Amino acid sequence: MTTAEKVAYLKGLTEGYGLDSATKEGKILSTILDILEDLALDQQDLNDSLAELGDGLDAVSDDLEDVEDLLFGDGEDQEDEDDGEIEDWDGETAFYEAECPSCGETVTFDEGVLRQGSIQCPSCGEHLEFDLGEGEDAPPEE
Ligand SMILES: [Zn+2]
Repeated sequence: MTTAEKVAYLKGLTEGYGLDSATKEGKILSTILDILEDLALDQQDLNDSLAELGDGLDAVSDDLEDVEDLLFGDGEDQEDEDDGEIEDWDGETAFYEAECPSCGETVTFDEGVLRQGSIQCPSCGEHLEFDLGEGEDAPPEE
């Protein structure tokens, strides 16, 4: 039984008992019952609004999750990729990250750029060179 239903029941009782609203007590009681009824209805409205707000929040939360998946991939931890090492990104095309030694900006680039051996930092313009190590196709020297 909701509060509104209880109040309605109480109102029915007073009517059933023939509460005389012409008397002082009857007037006060019926006024109290009216106030109770208003309160119960207000509470119901509040509950409805809260439920709507909750639904809205759920929708926003779901959308945010989609955006996060788009930006960061599925639930992957992105916090520990700033140690300056060239790391393999998961996925078909290999992407790499390096920290610009000049401005500290994290620069993302793909395999093609890596093969060129250098990139310009998009943030400060510093020329960054990659050490490819083994596997580098250096032109044969005479
Ligand atoms: Zn830089």
